[in-house]
Amino acid sequence: MKYLSYAKINVGLRVLGKRPDGFHDILSLFLEVNFADELTILPGSDGTIKVRCSDPHIPDGPDNLVYQAAKALREMANDDTLGCEIGIDKRIPSGGGLGGGSSNAALVISLLNDIWKTGLGNRNLHRIAQTVGSDVPFFLKGGCALVSGRGENLQPIDFTGNPYMVLVHPGFSVPTPWAFSKLNIKLTTECPYIRFLNSVGVSGSVDLFELFSVIQNDFLMLVASRYPSVERILSLIRDAGAECASMSGTGATLYGGFADEAVAQEVAERLRDQGYMAHLCRPIRRLSIDSLAQ
Ligand code: C5P
Repeated sequence: MKYLSYAKINVGLRVLGKRPDGFHDILSLFLEVNFADELTILPGSDGTIKVRCSDPHIPDGPDNLVYQAAKALREMANDDTLGCEIGIDKRIPSGGGLGGGSSNAALVISLLNDIWKTGLGNRNLHRIAQTVGSDVPFFLKGGCALVSGRGENLQPIDFTGNPYMVLVHPGFSVPTPWAFSKLNIKLTTECPYIRFLNSVGVSGSVDLFELFSVIQNDFLMLVASRYPSVERILSLIRDAGAECASMSGTGATLYGGFADEAVAQEVAERLRDQGYMAHLCRPIRRLSIDSLAQ
């Protein structure tokens, strides 16, 4: 049995300030998209956790987020006979700002919770997710959410608009700790993006194309100043008529949002011709119990 572990895009990301615990408070709209890794899971009862990954650059031992997720769940379940063998077929680039490792970890928490029949509820799963990484809690439910705090405060958001998103990997990766440590911006709470997201929080819904017109990412200048290819790729996306051109998370994945599929496809092809990895994907809509009742 194979399970899909989807990526996310940060449709804008602002850093609001540094916290006493060393992390930063952020404000962002996270959007799950149909670009995914594939996971396989086999249960075991000898207390060992094994992870293997198709990408040799990704650690398969205790440094892997998936390993940490399984271990944290086993600890909370308080049963050290629980074991598993997890296979990851990687497509989401690591160090790409698309939350690939976090998505894998959240999927493993949910699946193993069922397979191991731990009986742990959502609140405990959320707690485990938080210990594994800041972006992991979002992926327990996925979809579209307004995200604040370190990443643990999640408000599910309904969205309208179904853009074609072109994801571009510029050929380098950005380590998240490095990006946060180099951040040298005037911390502010006053800007069109923050005002817009505050209104999204009040209404509980967002028009993605409206959001595209106010996107801001606090890490973009930092990454672009180090890698000239960023501005070249973003210009190509903008010139092709994109509704937005930005970067996901702390980078390095860049993206454009398009209303027209043919245009998006052409841009992806042009970027591939220039040697970049480019994928076309769309937002994933997760139906809430509220919207099912309507
Ligand atoms: O939680 P995660 O492991 O993804 O964080 C990696 C690093 O990124 C942290 O050690 C921290 O330096 C930085 N970070 C931060 N504020 C956040 C998320 C991450 O400072 N909200």
